[in-house]
Amino acid sequence: MPSVAYFNNEFVPFDQAKVSVMNHAFNYGTAVFEGVRAYWNAAHGQLYVFRLAEHCQRLASSGKLLRMDLGHTSEEIAGLVVELLRRENMRNDMYIRPLGYKSDDVIGVRLHNLTDRLTIFATPLSPTIDRAEGANVCVSPWRRNDDNALPPRGKIAGGYVNPAFIKTDAQLKGFDDAIVLNQDGHVAEGSAQNLFMVRGGQLVTCPATANVLEGITRDTLLTLAPDFGIPVRERQIDRTELYLADELFFCGTGVEVVPITSVDHYAVGDGRIGPVSARIGAIYRRVVHGDEPAYLGWCTPVFDR
Ligand code: PMP
Repeated sequence: MPSVAYFNNEFVPFDQAKVSVMNHAFNYGTAVFEGVRAYWNAAHGQLYVFRLAEHCQRLASSGKLLRMDLGHTSEEIAGLVVELLRRENMRNDMYIRPLGYKSDDVIGVRLHNLTDRLTIFATPLSPTIDRAEGANVCVSPWRRNDDNALPPRGKIAGGYVNPAFIKTDAQLKGFDDAIVLNQDGHVAEGSAQNLFMVRGGQLVTCPATANVLEGITRDTLLTLAPDFGIPVRERQIDRTELYLADELFFCGTGVEVVPITSVDHYAVGDGRIGPVSARIGAIYRRVVHGDEPAYLGWCTPVFDR
């Protein structure tokens, strides 16, 4: 369990960070959140928070969609995350969860005339899909929520019932996870992670307008791939391309890079982890741990040395 939380503008013992059962966000899903990772680098004696600025900026964007005033700039939120990690004082990989939420104890579905608050906690966490040998996934019978209904561009708490439907449906059927189509019937992403495909020698992911979260790991890989000599393209992906792909992998802060070895019982390529997925996964791991000097700017050190 975490030992400390940022709550109501101060750091408090974790068990004092509580909301009422009448809380607006609890009743209506009117919260926005981030999932951020920090990686312990034993050789450097340092805990690095990966792309903290971008996560805090996305929290602000999600909050803007819900007409929130979090009372802190994204730079201030980044500072609070670092301070929280110092207070937790853990020397291992951490997962940080900042949340903005409608904090009033009031009945009534709306976004306006409500009080917005920020809370942050952090907990140790290992990879969320533990599939070293590759994941077996299905195409979900559920569709991703649409930008005009519940925008997936924002990390909106209520919107995560859609990934929950998708993940549970997949796991009850014996799959590790699922790929979800958008309302147009084209490939969007995973239950709660973005998707890349290798087909015809090209690395491809769908555009940010395909009803996906504008993932920070997706953006990281779109930057890293060409830097390491792997050309990458953003374009619409059809469902049947998944069955014909040479390689597929999920990416996200929580899952990191997870190769997919089958979709709907079609083997991806030869059914083994492909060379591009393996290479990108290894590069990503080095970058997030602060072991690629060119990208150290993405890694915020927590401890003074
Ligand atoms: N899509 C969805 C729906 C997600 O919830 C996440 C995880 N936050 C991602 C993609 C991956 O985003 P990121 O790389 O920023 O963690």
